[in-house]
Amino acid sequence: MAYDDQNIFARILRGELPAIKVYEDERVLAFMDIMPQAEGHTLVIPKSPAITLLDLAPEEAAYTIQIVQKVAKAIETALQVEGIVLMQLSGVAAGQTVPHVHFHLIPSSVHELGKHAAQMGDQDKIRALAEKIKAAL
Ligand code: 5GP
Repeated sequence: MAYDDQNIFARILRGELPAIKVYEDERVLAFMDIMPQAEGHTLVIPKSPAITLLDLAPEEAAYTIQIVQKVAKAIETALQVEGIVLMQLSGVAAGQTVPHVHFHLIPSSVHELGKHAAQMGDQDKIRALAEKIKAAL
């Protein structure tokens, strides 16, 4: 399957769609999930155009996971949570809905996760959580 450069995350990366960002550098972007499965649900994406983890160049995967760890630590500190679910769906069959590889950081328990990509969150509340996470980075 070819990478669709009109997918939502590609458009966010190009600045065509808004996102509540918590971290950005030349290779990775981290931003808040618009339909959070828990308070503080954050997405980390490499900027390189890969659909799934399996398509991602190993060096980009290695770099991205370092930022995943960095953002996870900030979430833990900022939101004073004890557990964070790291979720990565590769392929529509796994439930992937946006065809640009991404890592979910969900401060929750696997036993209590909200429904996946189901309900819009309160954007003001999400923005306030993002500010806390940014301050802890
Ligand atoms: P996937 O199902 O591909 O693993 O996850 C895609 C995630 O992207 C879902 O958790 C969904 O809530 C989130 N999402 C979908 N559209 C948007 C959007 O326009 N902006 C942001 N920030 N998140 C989105």
